[in-house]
Amino acid sequence: MTTPSPNHPTFTGNKALQIEEALSFEIGGLDRTGVDFPPAEDLGDRLGGLGRDSEIGLPGLSEPETVRHFVRLSQKNYAIDMGPFPLGSCTMKHNPRLNEKIARLPGFADLPPLAPQSCVQGALELIDMLAHWLKELTGMPAVAMSPKAGAHGELCGMMAIKAAIEARGEGAKRTRVLAPESAHGTNPATAVQCGFTVEEIPADATGRVDLAALKEKLGDDVAAIMVTNPNTCGLFERDIRAIADAVHDAGGYFYCDGANFNAIAGKVRPGDLGVDAMHINLHKTFSTPHGGGGPGAGPTVLAAALETFAPVPFVVRRDGEYHLVETQSAESFGRMTAFHGQMGMFTRALAYMMSHGVDGVRQVAEDAVLNANYVLARLKTEMTPAFDGYCMHEALFDDRFLKDTGVETIDFAKAMIDEGYHPMTMYFPLVVHGAMLIEPTESESKRELDLFCDALLSLAKRAKSGEAEAFKAAPVYAPRRRLDETAAARKPVLRWTPVIATE
Ligand SMILES: *Cc1c(COP(=O)(O)O)cnc(C)c1O
Repeated sequence: MTTPSPNHPTFTGNKALQIEEALSFEIGGLDRTGVDFPPAEDLGDRLGGLGRDSEIGLPGLSEPETVRHFVRLSQKNYAIDMGPFPLGSCTMKHNPRLNEKIARLPGFADLPPLAPQSCVQGALELIDMLAHWLKELTGMPAVAMSPKAGAHGELCGMMAIKAAIEARGEGAKRTRVLAPESAHGTNPATAVQCGFTVEEIPADATGRVDLAALKEKLGDDVAAIMVTNPNTCGLFERDIRAIADAVHDAGGYFYCDGANFNAIAGKVRPGDLGVDAMHINLHKTFSTPHGGGGPGAGPTVLAAALETFAPVPFVVRRDGEYHLVETQSAESFGRMTAFHGQMGMFTRALAYMMSHGVDGVRQVAEDAVLNANYVLARLKTEMTPAFDGYCMHEALFDDRFLKDTGVETIDFAKAMIDEGYHPMTMYFPLVVHGAMLIEPTESESKRELDLFCDALLSLAKRAKSGEAEAFKAAPVYAPRRRLDETAAARKPVLRWTPVIATE
């Protein structure tokens, strides 16, 4: 018998606990069923001849087969509950179990969205309370709670800005939006979605917005700037007040991408910096789960100048009762979602805030920054930080340390998979060559950070000692090796076609 190895696969194709998994259609087959009810008597139906007369084409699996299928698939996934998830910009922090307990209270979890408002006062109060925390933490007078993701929150903020510009009668004139080169892709996408054209603001040598270049681009055709702070290089925009003033002087609005709010929550109030609109990713800063396409929540705080343009619905308290206001004012730009937003995320985020308290939220920001700087300090002995000095909540490296090794950022990332880590964010932000963006968050212990840093330092040393071939082959221990990710994204195969047996 040959010893199993990558060259001599096992009979089953399984690797111990890593079990190969076929599609449910391939396991089940279309000619079987997982239930054994007797065939229905011919009782006739009331479908008026529209009943299905062909096979439905669903796989027939038994209950244990179904359960195993999904459990096996889930085990192919890396998860924050398995280890550190260092994806920069994404803020993959621990999802406290207390949040889950609160979110599952039947008084919150089991409410039908159309229940009469008098029956759901507690839920409305919770939304109002969370809104209050968000307004206090940001120093902004209003918040739209309904956006369901960061990008959706951006859309909300930019639609409010557009409505405000149109109300001023400048809709036809103000058509440009400025965004830094390092902006997250959703920023320009949102601006374009709202009908604006986007122009890039260059970065200066320190990785921040080039103020002089920004001022040159300003004019009476600029609707807004979109700036992330701390920015996607993990750096605080020191000129933020001057940026806000310059844009306001030119008659434009300041949209702040607040995805990185976790670095400054409880320390800095964006309202004090001149921000007009900013989304907050509850699934980043406030620990609600994300990834895998699950629900996020992107409440958008608004300055007084934009407050009246906010979408419906929103919660108000009147005569000791909470009301969900559904009727649109003349200025409101409309509605973004069918109901009030992601209730499950609201309960989790508020549980996180209340269990930390205001001082705890501030400490979260401080610890996130401390952890990132610890990683930066430890890794800079072998890797090359993209910019000098301290970082905020994420540490950005470029690929200079890999120069002449034959190893590229992608190979380095793939080798991390064999070490049991999800890779950091690669090749983003675009302003840094071969970027590697690491965000540890506050929820990693020193032990976890040390193990992570030791693993990366050992990889960096191996890369420099001429092991390029091993890096090019990585990952070797993953269920799949290297996939054509571009083709998978551009030409996804979304339909399973049965293989017709031929005699
Ligand atoms: C995550 C992120 C977004 C988008 O948020 P989603 O919830 O993924 O839509 C926007 N900007 C930055 C900087 C981000 O990190």
